[in-house]
Amino acid sequence: MKGYIGSYLDIDLTTRKVSKKSLAGEWCNQYVGGIGFGIKVAWDNIPKGVDSLSPQNVISFWTGPFAGTLVPVSSKYCAVAKSPLTDTIGYGISSGYFGAELKRAGYDGIVIRGKASKLVYIFIDDDLIAIKDASQLAGKTTWQTDDLIKEELQDDSIRVASIGPAGERLVRFSCITNAKNRHVGRNGMGTVMGSKNLKAIAVRGTKDVEVHDLRTLLKVVKPLYKACRGPNMYYGREGTPIKIMQHQKKGCLATNNFQKMTFSQAEKVSGETMLKTKVKKIIACEMCAVACDHVNVVEEGQYKGAHSSVDFESLWALGPCCGIGNLDAITKAVELCDTLGMDTISTGLTVSWAMECYEKRIFDKELTEGLDLNFGNHEAMVELVRRIGLREGRFATMLGEGSKRAAIQTGRGTIKFAMQIKGLETSAYPFRTMQTGALGHATCITGAFYQRSGSYQYDEKEVVDRLSLDEKRGKLVADGENDYSVIDSLIICKFSRKIYENKEELAKLYYLVTGKKITWKEFLKAGERIYNLGRAFNIRHGFGREDDYLPARAYEERVKDGPGKGAIVRMDQWNAALDSYYEYREWSKDGIPTRKKLKQLSLEDVREEMGV
Ligand code: SF4
Repeated sequence: MKGYIGSYLDIDLTTRKVSKKSLAGEWCNQYVGGIGFGIKVAWDNIPKGVDSLSPQNVISFWTGPFAGTLVPVSSKYCAVAKSPLTDTIGYGISSGYFGAELKRAGYDGIVIRGKASKLVYIFIDDDLIAIKDASQLAGKTTWQTDDLIKEELQDDSIRVASIGPAGERLVRFSCITNAKNRHVGRNGMGTVMGSKNLKAIAVRGTKDVEVHDLRTLLKVVKPLYKACRGPNMYYGREGTPIKIMQHQKKGCLATNNFQKMTFSQAEKVSGETMLKTKVKKIIACEMCAVACDHVNVVEEGQYKGAHSSVDFESLWALGPCCGIGNLDAITKAVELCDTLGMDTISTGLTVSWAMECYEKRIFDKELTEGLDLNFGNHEAMVELVRRIGLREGRFATMLGEGSKRAAIQTGRGTIKFAMQIKGLETSAYPFRTMQTGALGHATCITGAFYQRSGSYQYDEKEVVDRLSLDEKRGKLVADGENDYSVIDSLIICKFSRKIYENKEELAKLYYLVTGKKITWKEFLKAGERIYNLGRAFNIRHGFGREDDYLPARAYEERVKDGPGKGAIVRMDQWNAALDSYYEYREWSKDGIPTRKKLKQLSLEDVREEMGV
């Protein structure tokens, strides 16, 4: 098939052996690309009991069939491995230029095993692959690493995906950064690179990615590019931070570590204010006319010189969730996360957990090593983010383990304030006032993340009663997960939702690129297979129904403010909704895929291992 290159690199860092392997044809049919390939590789290569930070963990990077072609918003890649933060299947997806460059170098993906004896980086120069010494890059930020590798290789157009000091020092929510402000975030894929002594991957590709029907593809993509700039595409014009005020009005702006649902300083950190006062440039990824990347620059004051790309989730996690109403401080904190190489959501929510512990007098200044961690103290927040990224001091080192591990280490009931599921800090869609979203966060195979099912959108659009649950939500969540599994395997940017409202359009593009005819319904079968395989990976590593629950606060404390005042997640409704989800998926009451389902999805090896 065109679109796919048909080969990938298999690199063992322990033995320094590099092999070029052929992509199995049935993989394309059954797993599509992107996360589908990554989860398949993880299932086949990471047996039960493997420590996520050991050389036995395998990390793979994959593109989709559209990367490097003319298809809009398709220049993406993903990294997949066992997550050091959650111990579940872990993955993150990034944009920029790296994915398309890898395709142009002649590879659909890279599988990396083992551990290098010292810090290295991989240079993929079309057919030439080198594992190079990276001792000169030790401790360098992601931005410095990007510059230094380009300087060393004397080519500014080389694409670099790297980790910062946080990844090298094994902060469990470390990112992989490319194009300086694009990240494989959330599940600690940068930590896995750090555990393998792999500082970066640099790619130069000079080949073409062939497509099946270029002439028709050109005609079909033209209106799609136009649609990227259409009236309903606010991501480019206003940017995602306009959601701050939308959430505030609905009583969904989680504040002070989810203790409140409205923020008294919301206007000060709103997308509208940010756009007027801080955004100095807007940039785009390869083959994208949306251009959602809004870059803030701080021009005066104590954070003068700080600049970073601040999206809604980062703004919220390091802003309202920490009680911070200072855009300059938030811009600085995001810059620190980006350069040191950490996930902004997990960083923000681990800090907000520590702030709640401090305000409840579980922590004192001696323990925080001099930091006055009251909500709203932006100087303390910025300093703590810096210390976490560098693993400086005992307190910040503990926080670098993530909120769940830090709470277990602290004890004294602080696990109640850790706003996480399966160890992954949750996103900006609060459980009690967006309950369909909550179910999607809980069943998510990578921990609490909104981008694996998009189920929060039912709450946002108010097409369901978002303050309660019923037995219809299971279907909504499962359908969303299957849908997003295909999107993340193709891999298409989720901000294209409004461009590809008719999903058959994607099937048509797939035909024009690959030459293979397929319907969206058939794609969804692959999506279901991918999600079931991810679930099977988690079951293999000890997860089950008991892990599909929300933090205690959701069931025990009623919302105290805003339009959702009084809301709580009822345990009886939760159990019924979870049952309905398992039933729709044809899983047992314990959340294990049934024999019938696994056979239907041709996952025979999974069925055998599970003994069902
Ligand atoms: S919408 Fe934003 S993240 Fe998505 S491809 Fe375009 S610029 Fe990149």
